Amino acid sequence: MKPVGPIPAGYAAIDGDLAIGGRRVSELVAEAGRTPLFVYSRSHLDARVAELRAALPKRIGLNYAVKANPHLAVIGHMAPLVDGFDIASSGELGLCVAVGIDPERISFAGPGKRDDELEAAIAVGVTLNCESEGEAARALAIGQRLGKRPRIAIRVNPSFTMTGSGMKMGGGAKQFGVDAERVPALARAMIAQGAEWRGLHIFTGSQTLSADAIIEAQGKVLDLAAELAEVIGHGLPKLNMGGGLGIPYFPGDIPVDLPRVGAALAERVAHLPPVLADTELCMELGRYLVGEAGVYLTRIIDRKVSHGVTYLITDGGLHHQLAASGNFGTVVRRNYPSAIATCYGAEPTEEVNIVGCLCTPLDRLADNAAMPHAEVGDMVAVFCAGAYGATASPSAFLGHGPAAEILV
Ligand SMILES: *Cc1c(COP(=O)(O)O)cnc(C)c1O
Repeated sequence: MKPVGPIPAGYAAIDGDLAIGGRRVSELVAEAGRTPLFVYSRSHLDARVAELRAALPKRIGLNYAVKANPHLAVIGHMAPLVDGFDIASSGELGLCVAVGIDPERISFAGPGKRDDELEAAIAVGVTLNCESEGEAARALAIGQRLGKRPRIAIRVNPSFTMTGSGMKMGGGAKQFGVDAERVPALARAMIAQGAEWRGLHIFTGSQTLSADAIIEAQGKVLDLAAELAEVIGHGLPKLNMGGGLGIPYFPGDIPVDLPRVGAALAERVAHLPPVLADTELCMELGRYLVGEAGVYLTRIIDRKVSHGVTYLITDGGLHHQLAASGNFGTVVRRNYPSAIATCYGAEPTEEVNIVGCLCTPLDRLADNAAMPHAEVGDMVAVFCAGAYGATASPSAFLGHGPAAEILV
C-alpha cells in the first residue's frame, strides 16, 4: 500500500459526492457535459490571495505567473485580486489582453522572445524582463522602429539558487537572465539608449516548502538588488523578487509557513537600504496561487484484475496530468492527493492502481492506493490540479484531446 498526498483544505462531501465550491461533482460534470474535467474553485483562489495579503507586508505587490494556469476564466478572476501579471509568451499576452488587463500591469519574461513577441509587447507598453544583451538590443531596435520607448527591466541570473527548490532557476550557467556581474553595464547602456528603466527581476526557484529557504533567498535577492542598483546609479523603480512558494503534493509534505515568511520579509522591508527606499517590490507566484484551487475529474471506464492487482482505468491520464503521473521532473514516482469523487469521504476498503487510458505504462494516476470500492461510472478526483495541469501536459498525445475546464 502506498499513501496518497494530502488533500488540500476546503473540499467537502455532500451526500457522498465530492463538493467543489459548494457544488457536487456529478452536477459539475453534468453541466460541463463530459469528463475529463478540470474544475477551478473561485473560493480557493480568493482564500489564497487573502492569506497572502494578510501575511505579507503591504509594500509587497502580488503578481500572478500566468503559465501556471492560463485558463481565461482563471486569469479573469485573478485580474482584480492581484497587482500584476507575469507572462512568458505573446500567446499569454493575448489572453491577458482578452480579459481586459491593462498592459502596464504586465511583465514579460522568457529566454527566447521572438521579434514579433517583443513588438507585440512594446507596442502596448508591457515591461520586458530582458534575458540577454542580444534581446535588449533587439528590443531597442524594435522600439525605435515603432516609435515607442520600450519599458525594460533586466532579469538577473544570480550566483545563488533557492535551496531545496523543486526547480532550480538560478546559480551558475543558466539560459535565464543576465549574469549578475554584467547587469550594471547592460542597464546603463539601455538607459543611455532611451529605454524606460523599470528595474530588476530575480527569480531563484520554484516549489519550495521551506520557509527558511524562502527567507534566505529573499534576503539575498534584496541584497543583490541593492548592490546592483548602487552600481547602475539610476535608482530602482521596481524589483520583482521572484516567488517559489510551493504546495504540498506528497505524503509528508508540510505547507509553507507563510506567516513566518511574511514576518521575516516585513523585518527586511522595514530596514531597506536607501537605494531601495522608493522601489516598488513584488513577488510573482503561479502554483501557490492556483495549484490547490484545481481538481481533475476523470471517470472510471473499466475495472479489471491482473495477477491479483485491481486496476481502475479512467478516461483521463497523463495527457492532462503529466505531473501527477510522475513524468514531469520527478525522480521517484509518488501519489498525488486523489480520491474516489463519487464516494468521497468513505472508508477505504481495497487497494487499487488508478491508471489513465493511454497505451503506455507511464500513464498512472495512483499506485497501490487505498480507496473505497469504485465501479465503472464512478469518478476519480486528482487534487492540486490547478497549476501545470491542462496546459503543461501533452494533450495531443494519443488523440484523446484536451480536458474540459470550468471555474466555479
Ligand atoms: C514559472 C515561473 C514562475 C511561477 O513559478 P511557480 O512555481 O508556479 O510559482 C514565476 N516566475 C518565473 C520567471 C517563472 O518562470
